[in-house]
Amino acid sequence: MSMSFLFTFTIIISFGLCILYASAELQRLSHSSKHDGALSFLVLGDWGRRGAYNQSQVSFQMGKVGEKLDIDFVVSTGDNFYDNGLTSDHDNAFQESFTQIYTAKSLQKQWYSVLGNHDYRGDAEAQLSPVLREIDSRWLCLRSFIVDSELVEIFFVDTTPFVEEYFTEPQEHKYDWRGIGPQKPYITNLLKDLELALRESTAKWKIVVGHHAIRSVGHHGDTQELINQLLPILQANNIDFYMNGHDHCLEHISDTESPIQFLTSGAGSKAWRGDIKGMNRRDVNFFYDGQGFMSVKLTQTDATIEFYDVFGNVLHRLTSSKQLHSSM
Ligand SMILES: [Zn+2]
Repeated sequence: MSMSFLFTFTIIISFGLCILYASAELQRLSHSSKHDGALSFLVLGDWGRRGAYNQSQVSFQMGKVGEKLDIDFVVSTGDNFYDNGLTSDHDNAFQESFTQIYTAKSLQKQWYSVLGNHDYRGDAEAQLSPVLREIDSRWLCLRSFIVDSELVEIFFVDTTPFVEEYFTEPQEHKYDWRGIGPQKPYITNLLKDLELALRESTAKWKIVVGHHAIRSVGHHGDTQELINQLLPILQANNIDFYMNGHDHCLEHISDTESPIQFLTSGAGSKAWRGDIKGMNRRDVNFFYDGQGFMSVKLTQTDATIEFYDVFGNVLHRLTSSKQLHSSM
């Protein structure tokens, strides 16, 4: 029995998810919408610190909002375990920073996660391991994949290998590039598969999730590699939202060349860096330096996105509408 078959089989029995097809390289998972066709989820990033730096307080508010919205799942934008990812698939940090922190009833849903740069500093493959799903069945982390609910397709993109300085100037950090191979072909293939999947998508809403920001006015700022290589593909394929973490803040920035909205949710624990650039830019709608998270509610015609602080206050709300296409 091949490893890929075993892996697929484990996903099906663990989560009741259905693999529709795995052509091209992007794995596709289906997640059905509610009976009324609506879908809601929370987006959290940069969180795993064994409850410290208000991680537990953010979790508490997520539980309350998750219950109110009757969420379908949770999206993690990466940097799941600090400081250096997991040491193995038996690292206690998995339970101490995930299972024992996100305990609210409403958060006992599927989590879809990507890897961040800090996750690549540990055993990156550990987070992809089915062993973690045996410990906590909510967990699902892959490098790049698609979650398809018909109403929305969410394209998760592994952005860490795009960033040149992790290869050329790793400083004291050691990145786990096993499974990536040479950087250039990995990115070329990923972009090719992504472009094909985006072009073929008929979903009402199209969302792309990555760890690194395309646009940010926080500490790390824009990611030039993503502006050059990823953004043109998103602009050409009618993407509604790009969601990311990496900067430990909450942000809403509009693309100046397309309807794409850039949304940062990287405030799951340590925040308040105080390093903000270009706040007076016209494309910056909202920036919050502190801890919090984001909620997304989608219907056939409307998207409502809200940013919350550690007290559960709504700091910023963004709404977007689409016309219903008549079949007549
Ligand atoms: Zn990061």
